[in-house]
Amino acid sequence: MITAVYRKFLPFAMPFFLLGAAWLALPHLGYVKHAVPKTFSYLPYIIFSLGIVLSLRFNLTRIAFVLLTFCLAYWGYRAVLVDGQSSFESKVVFHMLCLLLPLNIALFAFMKERGITTFQGGIRLGLILFQIIFTLWIIRDGRQEIYQLLSKDFFSSNLGSYPLPQSALIMNGLALLLLSITYYLNRSSLETGLMGALVAANLACFFVGSESVFILFISAAGLILIVGIIQNTHHMAYRDELTGLLARRALNERTLMLGRRYTVAMLDVDHFKKFNDTYGHDTGDHVLKMVAGLMQKVGGGGRPYRYGGEEFTILFPGKDLESAMSHLETLRERIATYNLGIRGKNRPNKSSKGKRGRGSTVKDKSVSVTISIGVAESSGKKVSPVKMISEADKALYRAKKKGRNRVSV
Ligand code: GH3
Ligand code: MG
Ligand code: MG
Repeated sequence: MITAVYRKFLPFAMPFFLLGAAWLALPHLGYVKHAVPKTFSYLPYIIFSLGIVLSLRFNLTRIAFVLLTFCLAYWGYRAVLVDGQSSFESKVVFHMLCLLLPLNIALFAFMKERGITTFQGGIRLGLILFQIIFTLWIIRDGRQEIYQLLSKDFFSSNLGSYPLPQSALIMNGLALLLLSITYYLNRSSLETGLMGALVAANLACFFVGSESVFILFISAAGLILIVGIIQNTHHMAYRDELTGLLARRALNERTLMLGRRYTVAMLDVDHFKKFNDTYGHDTGDHVLKMVAGLMQKVGGGGRPYRYGGEEFTILFPGKDLESAMSHLETLRERIATYNLGIRGKNRPNKSSKGKRGRGSTVKDKSVSVTISIGVAESSGKKVSPVKMISEADKALYRAKKKGRNRVSV
């Protein structure tokens, strides 16, 4: 139970662990700054460059653009803000940082992945360039009215000496909303990484008066995004995209760590080729997702994997055949009795065509499938997991021969 919660939430909690670590490092900053002053001030550039190279390597241009924004923000900080925050130019740069960091994080989080060399990639680069030119123009022409707008109080608050302008607070609220939507849609560690980077950016701006704290939090933002990239890549390597189950690679690695006692089950959807031919490949995909969803609830400590195609594996580490059997029998029954609703072929999609049309053309139906399961138990002797999987496969063949929709040993 605890390990399941740990597995589920660790990828998403990581950015906040890193922020916590940065917070704990605060009292030791003075020592680091004195020991390696030059390296310390270049640290954010090193982290952002590494992150940009990694994200471009994995075609995550959204993250590359966010890292570029952070890199430019740090450049602006070093150029103007590091030596004081009282001049007009430093005030403008500070307000722009507070406003533009959340804006860019949210904007790029919401955009689709596009190559950096494509037309849309060019537009995105242009957007960043425009922000720099706009900031420089406000400073050079002394545009007080724009600065007034940036620092204006839009609502009455009792935040007192809170250093972030209200425009930035509004932008942060919007960014958080957009990031929550993208997280809901994608559920990837990149989205939580972007949320962590948003929090880190705010902390950096909050502590703008202290160079080392600013460097710490802006570096933390870069590191959080890098960890997000690594987690995302790990996820793609080990998870099956369609069902969300662990894939064959993960199964192969897990079998190397099994003890002497375990049970392995091979599952195969019955007559699935015919099912695809009758209802179409998309409905077939929905069925595989449904089967995977029910497999995840198998119980008895069973860990499901997609072996390939319409074949799945469940490992029961430390379990004998007898105790795994009842869970597999229940799973087989649950799948056989599950009715998956599908849309009738001629059903209009648009509600504008009227409810009558939608209801009366072709009835929506429900479909169901059965699965066959073969089980093998490692009896305590050291038998290779490959051999055990092949034993389970033979048992699966027997289940098919006996008429399908059954569990065989
Ligand atoms: P049996 O009961 O003997 O297992 O018959 P079967 O038709 O299920 O067996 P067969 O191995 O001949 O067919 C497997 C089918 O599974 C063929 C393929 O189209 C389908 N399939 C494999 N992977 C996917 C997938 O990702 N999505 C969909 N929709 N179908 C898939
Ligand atoms: Mg098959
Ligand atoms: Mg099959």
